[in-house]
Amino acid sequence: MGWFDTEEKDVFDKLDDINYIPVIASLITFAKPKNFINGKAITFFQKNSIFKYNKHLVNPFHTQKLYEELFDSGSLLPNALVFADSGGLQELLLKRLIKSPEEILKWQEKYCDIGFALDKIPFKTDTGFNVGWTFDAVDFKKHAETTRERILRALKVRTKWKSFKYYAIIQGTKYEEYKTWKDIINQPGVDGWCCKSPTNSPANLAETIIFVLENLDKPVHFLGIGQLTKSIILYYAKRYYKHPFSFDSSSYDTGAQFRRYNLPFYFNGMKSVKKDSNGKYDIKNFGKFCFCPACQVMSEIINNPEAERYLGYLVSLHNVAQNISVFEYLNNIYKDGDKLREFVKCYFKENTAHKLLEVFDYIDDANKHGHKEAKKKWKHLFTTHTKTTKQGILF
Ligand SMILES: [Zn+2]
Repeated sequence: MGWFDTEEKDVFDKLDDINYIPVIASLITFAKPKNFINGKAITFFQKNSIFKYNKHLVNPFHTQKLYEELFDSGSLLPNALVFADSGGLQELLLKRLIKSPEEILKWQEKYCDIGFALDKIPFKTDTGFNVGWTFDAVDFKKHAETTRERILRALKVRTKWKSFKYYAIIQGTKYEEYKTWKDIINQPGVDGWCCKSPTNSPANLAETIIFVLENLDKPVHFLGIGQLTKSIILYYAKRYYKHPFSFDSSSYDTGAQFRRYNLPFYFNGMKSVKKDSNGKYDIKNFGKFCFCPACQVMSEIINNPEAERYLGYLVSLHNVAQNISVFEYLNNIYKDGDKLREFVKCYFKENTAHKLLEVFDYIDDANKHGHKEAKKKWKHLFTTHTKTTKQGILF
């Protein structure tokens, strides 16, 4: 190291073995100095944040202008690891592309470290009373081919290799579909993969991971891993995969949306912070039962007239802090399968714990005997699949 060291650092050196990537959701609307409390930002991604965490995911299609302003202001944490979405979902919602694959790649190269390729999502939106997503089995391969063309177009204008990594998204609802899609879109120049689960069932996510273990050989990012019943599956399967895992989640943001507060002493317990009949908040002493910096600030301002403006964002920030502390703990124990099983037994309700442990067994079996045999044996874990799923469940 030194002034003569001009060797650029590789983005992959910033990845840990397993990486929790909170999505920058509504907190970004609160990142400007006019919203600071005593000079501190109620975010986790700025130099003066009251609670700091140096990894995040930005969705340029929801927050492009705000993120560009934040970036240009120089207030983002240095040495952050930034993931950026591509906007494939926006195409589905708006029925047209807002930006070309080339424009998206150029934006990602400038503002982030790891960008996801713009895919053509193999789902249809239904309109009418029953709005939801329908898997497009008929045109599945055609969508994969369109996706491949977009990846090729983006890779042609790519100029950064070490300081920017490009991940392609694998679509589908089960093992065989993931494989078909991946074989069609695979290109030299794809540095990593994104995968996701078609439902909230841990067994479906396990099948996705078994596909990863058997077919991929690069870092993998898992999209939309909102609940601990899903992230715990990633931690268990990691022993069988040598490259880094990362996963994003925006569930902490229910703080800003609904004031949902993760109880510090019980991760799965949530409480909505409300006002009582006297117009006072039903919880006032956050700073006494939670040691996180967000709760200290909440206690300080709870009786001030402007508390209302800050409370939801502070609750979100507390939720991020809670997630980070649970995942930091899991980072310590995940290599020891017995400890992870013990954690599941202590942490979840008996029924849920039992199901999760069976999913662990399914992963072990797949590793020993292959995906087909394991799925046959653990068939009861898979609930029958409805073809139409609500948006919230899919993404
Ligand atoms: Zn707290």
